[in-house]
Amino acid sequence: MVQALGREAQEAQEAERLSPLACLSHQSRGRAEPEAECDWRTAFQRDRDRVLHSKAFRRLKGKTQVFLAPQGDHYRTRLTHVLEVAQISRTVARALRLNEDLAEAIALAHDLGHTPFGHAGEDVLDQLHPAGFAHNEHGVRVVEKLEPMNLSFEVRDGILHHTGPGVPATLEGQVVKICDRVAYLNHDIDDALRAGVLRDRDVPDFVFKRFGPSSGKRIGAMVQDLVQASAACGLAEIRMSPEVLEDFLELRAFMFRRVYRGSKAKVEEAKVAGLLGRLHAWYLAHPEKLSVALGRVVRPGEEAQAVVDHLAGMTDRYALATYEQVFLPRPWGLIDEAR
Ligand code: MG
Repeated sequence: MVQALGREAQEAQEAERLSPLACLSHQSRGRAEPEAECDWRTAFQRDRDRVLHSKAFRRLKGKTQVFLAPQGDHYRTRLTHVLEVAQISRTVARALRLNEDLAEAIALAHDLGHTPFGHAGEDVLDQLHPAGFAHNEHGVRVVEKLEPMNLSFEVRDGILHHTGPGVPATLEGQVVKICDRVAYLNHDIDDALRAGVLRDRDVPDFVFKRFGPSSGKRIGAMVQDLVQASAACGLAEIRMSPEVLEDFLELRAFMFRRVYRGSKAKVEEAKVAGLLGRLHAWYLAHPEKLSVALGRVVRPGEEAQAVVDHLAGMTDRYALATYEQVFLPRPWGLIDEAR
């Protein structure tokens, strides 16, 4: 007979094992709708599972990371990105005796609000929508309104503050915020080299010197510094050491200059504005189509938000297919034509 490890026993283990500064599951500020607890999983394990089983999560596989609708098998998508963020965040959280389950839940959920076509799509929706659009704010809308998951406060807070100037309320949220950058800078170098957007010799020397010659070494070096510097300051914050942070920010600036803006991988982005712009106008003129697409009645006055909800939820491929269906003429009757 084996003694099964129930939720309460796991919560007791958390209290024993984790740092006093960790966010313990049973101390969560809770859900918007109170619920009975699960027998086997803590609140944050349950949040993680809800995210993982959601449709919004599955759609991440069809959303651009940097390269639009990539055909190659090995390019990152939003889905592989969040899995990498989750893995790095868990390593850091565990090493710092923080709540690994909370870090994992935030990491898996943090990009649920992303549009098709990456940041190009986000910029277009921001211009088209009267209230503006930001993927972190929309992510909270996804888990609260569009596919309600009744997640804990700490996970919703982590989604909202994973980007921008706001500081997450938990150290676990801070871990994800930095590990998101660690993940994307490293995998985007890798993808840019694969695509020929960068050659090895384009990457500045300090990157190899400071962080190492391969993606794995570079992630390892960043994690090492992150853990040591955060532990050294007594978890006053999750941080890198000043020297490493300086090079990290320099690398980030380099990637923005050479890959994220103005590289050949970005040429297609000009077309994204045209595609999403035309779909946006068409759905506004056909709210009945929106109701069908969203599976709920869109009432007068709700159209602007509903269009954005629908467009933001699309994968790259779905957006392209919808455009084709709505705007491109279909060849007709050619094969059956009598000769
Ligand atoms: Mg991210």
